[in-house]
Amino acid sequence: MSDREALQAVKERIDIVAVLSRYLSLAKSGDNYKGNCPFHKDDTPSLMVSPEKGLWHCFGCGEGGDVFSFLMKIERISFPEALSRLAAEAGVSIGRQENDQLSGLRKIHAQVAEYFAENLRGSAGKQAREYLVGRGFDKASWKRFDLGYALSSWDHLKKRFASTYTERALVTLGLLVSGKDRSYDRFRDRVIFPIHDLSGRPIAFGGRALSGEPKYLNSPRTPLFDKSRQLYGLHWARDALRERRSALLVEGYTDVLSLLQAGIDNVVGSMGTSLTQGQADLLGRFVSEVIIAYDPDSAGSAASLRGMQILRNSGLSVRVARLPEGQDPDSLVRTGGAAPMLAAAEAALPFHLFYLDALGQRHDLGTISGKEDALDEARAFYQEIASLPLRQEIVQRLAEALDLPVEEVRAEMAAKGRRARPKENERTEERFGPNEVILSLLLRGAVGWSRVTEVANVEDFAPDDRPIVRAIETAGEPIDLSAVIADLDEPLKPRVSALGLSPLPFTDTEKALEDALLKLVRLPAIERRLAVLRGEIERAEQDGDHDRLNELQQSYSALVAERLTRRIDGPRKEAR
Ligand SMILES: [Zn+2]
Repeated sequence: MSDREALQAVKERIDIVAVLSRYLSLAKSGDNYKGNCPFHKDDTPSLMVSPEKGLWHCFGCGEGGDVFSFLMKIERISFPEALSRLAAEAGVSIGRQENDQLSGLRKIHAQVAEYFAENLRGSAGKQAREYLVGRGFDKASWKRFDLGYALSSWDHLKKRFASTYTERALVTLGLLVSGKDRSYDRFRDRVIFPIHDLSGRPIAFGGRALSGEPKYLNSPRTPLFDKSRQLYGLHWARDALRERRSALLVEGYTDVLSLLQAGIDNVVGSMGTSLTQGQADLLGRFVSEVIIAYDPDSAGSAASLRGMQILRNSGLSVRVARLPEGQDPDSLVRTGGAAPMLAAAEAALPFHLFYLDALGQRHDLGTISGKEDALDEARAFYQEIASLPLRQEIVQRLAEALDLPVEEVRAEMAAKGRRARPKENERTEERFGPNEVILSLLLRGAVGWSRVTEVANVEDFAPDDRPIVRAIETAGEPIDLSAVIADLDEPLKPRVSALGLSPLPFTDTEKALEDALLKLVRLPAIERRLAVLRGEIERAEQDGDHDRLNELQQSYSALVAERLTRRIDGPRKEAR
């Protein structure tokens, strides 16, 4: 039985309500169940479970996913562990051939890695070679880091390996994507960075696009690879990490490689800014200190701050290096060598100071409401800190930054969430933009993907939601929620459970869909055309070209009129 079949069989036989009931008490509420969330201090039941959809979601802290996600979070175990526990319970056998199966999959990966490496050296790899050389990676480093290239083709890999391996094995490894009619190559026209296990065997791939979107694409979760429990470059860094007890954590593949080339060997990559508990646990096996070196734009984002907090809560000492504006570790060592990077690491700020600094940048501390928001946000952070001297220092610094009395700030930090939380419905409604309306209808099967593609395509959705949209597209119709969930990285699952379980703030599905498509696709398209026209009108005015100006102004008025009609009539009148 393949992993995916086992997963399906387990899901069919396991009752999500029964599993969650071992950790919290659930009460029936309509078609769903509700209970107090074990992942945050929850005094109102905020966690909802839908036995029918196989999803759970906490509307208090935002955690969510399927039954496997729950077990992984609460028991802090990996996906394969969660699967094998539930499989044992369900009487689904996966164990016996598991080792054979895994070593078979590893063999395929090794051959595909070689194949990518050949492509890079072949005639079709010219652009990829130029890209790499331009970023400071010469021939020697292609070999050292096993770099490769995925051809600009939908089925080159498929044809090359179809005779040796089953299509199913290639799909299981995420090398092929199973589409509506046939499967196709996942990685196309991308520079390939193989991701290795601790023994240095390739178990997944990261691809950097030479053209097209998204810029970075990873292997999905497979029996060999779970991104939330993996760090890029760990097998190169392991000895240095053990020796120094300190890790330099960077974001991207090229950051890791550039630092290694510059002789900085205790570096690993998080493959994105938001860290997971699994990655923190992994780091904790090797080091006691982590110095985070993300580019300045992403370091202060909510997702990356949350990740840093996870590291801290795992008992690691965390500092954050501040890189010069507009630089990432890769560009820094490429232009200045190891010295400026080592200096930045040396001068890295303790996490709590960095956090307070980022807080000041996200909120306008000169205004009352900015101060209120900052206090509100800092409270959650403060309450997770156990060290008394550290708490003291945070209160002191915060009082200074906010220009408020120390004692008042201390009382505020110790208080329970003082500001009334908006009611659940209000909160959900507030978050229901056109993205959310369409996604929640798709995830509930209320609307099929083919209907949405009459008007919209993947790129119309918010960038963060695009992987979910792609998973929906891949899952086909009618929608199979467990296939969508299985296709996504762990951090994206709560978004799916939230959208799948939130009460819908509308009753007329058809009208809501029309409205959302209008806002998501039609109106922005008109706005873009208007912006272009405004530029042209300005130029025509400067040139004194009156005929042209007249013509442009007519088109402009026509578009404004169209925008008005569309707002009234809805989107489905003509194709874009
Ligand atoms: Zn919660």
